[in-house]
Amino acid sequence: MSEKFQKCVEDFQCLNCGQEVSGNGFTDHCPNCLYSKHVDINPGDRANNCRGILKPINIAPKKSGYTIFYKCLSCDLEITNKTAEQDDITNFLITLKNQ
Ligand SMILES: [Zn+2]
Ligand SMILES: [Zn+2]
Repeated sequence: MSEKFQKCVEDFQCLNCGQEVSGNGFTDHCPNCLYSKHVDINPGDRANNCRGILKPINIAPKKSGYTIFYKCLSCDLEITNKTAEQDDITNFLITLKNQ
């Protein structure tokens, strides 16, 4: 059984908060809680079979937007991504503060 989807633009439902996210080819995380899915080896390649939940553990401001630091809940790998324009980081900052 081959499971090779060559799709880059995909809609998905957030695994954490249930938000419907419409993919635009760049966004692969939830704009509401920033959770993502472990699907890439290199950004955008969707070549990773892990499919674990990527939990945002921190963010850091960069020139435009923020760098998001993720940890995969399945394989423990730590990766970074960057925020997209439509992201609302307020919820994440509140969650971070309450941890
Ligand atoms: Zn979410
Ligand atoms: Zn993983």
